[in-house]
Amino acid sequence: MRKKERAKEIIERLKEAYPDAACTLDYEDAWKLLVSVRLAAQCTDERVNRIVPGLYEKFPDVNALAEASVEEIEDIVKPCGLGHSKARDISACMKMLRDEFNSKVPDTMEELLRLPGVGRKSANLVLGDVFGKPAIVTDTHCIRLVNRMGLVDGFKEPKKVEMELWKIIPGEEGSDFCHRLVLHGREVCTARTNPYCDRCCLKDVCKQVGVSGKGR
Ligand code: SF4
Repeated sequence: MRKKERAKEIIERLKEAYPDAACTLDYEDAWKLLVSVRLAAQCTDERVNRIVPGLYEKFPDVNALAEASVEEIEDIVKPCGLGHSKARDISACMKMLRDEFNSKVPDTMEELLRLPGVGRKSANLVLGDVFGKPAIVTDTHCIRLVNRMGLVDGFKEPKKVEMELWKIIPGEEGSDFCHRLVLHGREVCTARTNPYCDRCCLKDVCKQVGVSGKGR
């Protein structure tokens, strides 16, 4: 099966399996998604979702968070780990939003990448989820799954994986496809155990099963 055909089939099957694909970070405003995605590095989305209400209670908008000291932010976000560097990035990011973007999150990859602490993964997440633009979010689930499925061949570097996926995933499908990969990666195609291929909706189109028979 060619990669594009395989991708099309996988997209459709995952839509059936996970009809309600959405970002698992809670947010109501674009800037809050930027904060949460920075906090989510090496932390679970669940924990981030528990921590951020306390941050927004104290600092309810971009300007308030831009005025906060790094230490004040760190005090609240440290349960997410890497407290100081995350607080420093959030502070610098909010300051730049306030000073250069009129406190609004920009809607281009180029501008998003200028924000401190924002890499391609975060920028794609914002572009797809907030602005409805074509986006491919290459987090660890995405990278593991698309390699196993045979949509990319042995690439681990996020930008390279993203570029390979752009060739075979229709832009408008990318954002939801990546959300569904996260759900599938947590529930079935797991990282810390052998994948549960025997109960996977993709077992007849997945390269991992076809080539090596790995999995349960
Ligand atoms: S068949 Fe196995 S390796 Fe392939 S996507 Fe499903 S769980 Fe993952």
